[in-house]
Amino acid sequence: MQKNEIVTVVIEDIGTAGEGIGKIDGYTLFIKDAIIGDIVEAKIMKAKKNYGYARLMNILTPSKYRVDEPKCPMARKCGGCQIQEMDYGRQLQFKSDKVKGNLMRIGEVPEVLLEEVMEPIMGMENPFHYRNKAQFPIGTDKEGKIITGFYAGRTHSIIPNTDCALGVEVNEEILKCILSFMEEYHISAYDEEKHQGLVRHVLIRYGFTTKEIMVCLVINGRAIPYGDVLAGRLSAIEGMTSITYSMNRDKTNVIMGNEIKLMWGQTYITDYIGNVKYQISPLSFYQVNPVQTEKLYGLAMEYAGLTGNEVVWDLYCGIGTISLFLAQKAEKVYGVEIVPQAIEDAKNNAKINGIENAEFYVGKAEEVLPEYYERYEKEHEGKKAHADVIVVDPPRKGCEESLLQTMVDMRPEKIVYVSCDSATLARDVKFLRGNGYEVRRVRAVDQFPHTVHVETVALLVKKR
Ligand code: SAH
Repeated sequence: MQKNEIVTVVIEDIGTAGEGIGKIDGYTLFIKDAIIGDIVEAKIMKAKKNYGYARLMNILTPSKYRVDEPKCPMARKCGGCQIQEMDYGRQLQFKSDKVKGNLMRIGEVPEVLLEEVMEPIMGMENPFHYRNKAQFPIGTDKEGKIITGFYAGRTHSIIPNTDCALGVEVNEEILKCILSFMEEYHISAYDEEKHQGLVRHVLIRYGFTTKEIMVCLVINGRAIPYGDVLAGRLSAIEGMTSITYSMNRDKTNVIMGNEIKLMWGQTYITDYIGNVKYQISPLSFYQVNPVQTEKLYGLAMEYAGLTGNEVVWDLYCGIGTISLFLAQKAEKVYGVEIVPQAIEDAKNNAKINGIENAEFYVGKAEEVLPEYYERYEKEHEGKKAHADVIVVDPPRKGCEESLLQTMVDMRPEKIVYVSCDSATLARDVKFLRGNGYEVRRVRAVDQFPHTVHVETVALLVKKR
């Protein structure tokens, strides 16, 4: 294969980034936007010895899994959705296969066992407009017009779009209000390359249960000129609860600044997952798909199988979301999280829900838990600390082995592993299976339709 060569290829598989995979005489081609079952014409862009990358030029025969028309016309250009052109049923199949494949290959879990313990993936009834949070970059186009939208894949060029198919519908009204205010009052958009201009990003959050709206403008400066005019206009939008700005004057990819200044209303919105109430500030971490999050936490609860007498640890607890769910059915819950602000939120959330049996620690899970374990032994004349259930919900890199070791040492009856990356889940499952635990239930939950991401909950039980 040579660069710029045009080839016809049958797409036989889906890669980890959602791309189509085809083979020509044993040579593997990765083709973005091609879908399993398509026959396509593609142009080779990069040719390595045994594999290459090609650009989709023409769909000769569309796959039966291809949707007639993607809901969003920008789907292909935008870096947000990778598989919107694949029908939703096939997306779910792809995600379920990915989890199973990782558990088999990386986790070395026998297929017969997986067939017994894996439950069907939980998808969404309506997989659009599910996100409660969006961060829109603000910039200018070639003509100098102020635009907003999303970054194209792997770049920072803005694809103008105020009507994202994953976000809530009110985003558009808010963005149009901000853009026309900026034009009218000559407020500049931020230019990343020159590190000049004022408005960098707009963060919008929406409480699905309470219908409360939050807008936070991220600015490269100290204040927004005529900010009172903007706040007046935005506050007229139904549901508006919180208007703030955040200063970020650094040349950085980090979106938010550290401080939040109030422009109108209050600095947070309130929302519910199930019967638990949460206060969310612009800087809080909060799951972005509330409908699926309720299912995810419900599953974690079910797997934990609490009766009311258990001591439970919730590691990587964020703002205490899972902890507070668990606390309603446990004797005691300990939450551990690395971000101090999140722990402040967790404590506050416990308070506003009247939950008194949850205690939170700031720190790395892999430090807090081992330290607790050692301290306990010293303070209790050699008696070892015990937990009935340990829940973990780590970031993509999964758990440190030292943490898994301490978890095993605490001999919990159950370990509930909530994962956003099934490859690291599989790696950690391998360790736990090698150290006295067995996989009893696994279920994937589709938190992010149209993207390649998938959440998984696994229940591991101590072997007798
Ligand atoms: N369970 C929470 C948050 C899960 S996201 C929820 O469902 O809302 C993962 C969390 O782990 C983040 O809040 C992140 O700040 C935290 N984190 C990352 N590394 C950590 C570590 N080493 N120890 C403890 N928490 C960590």
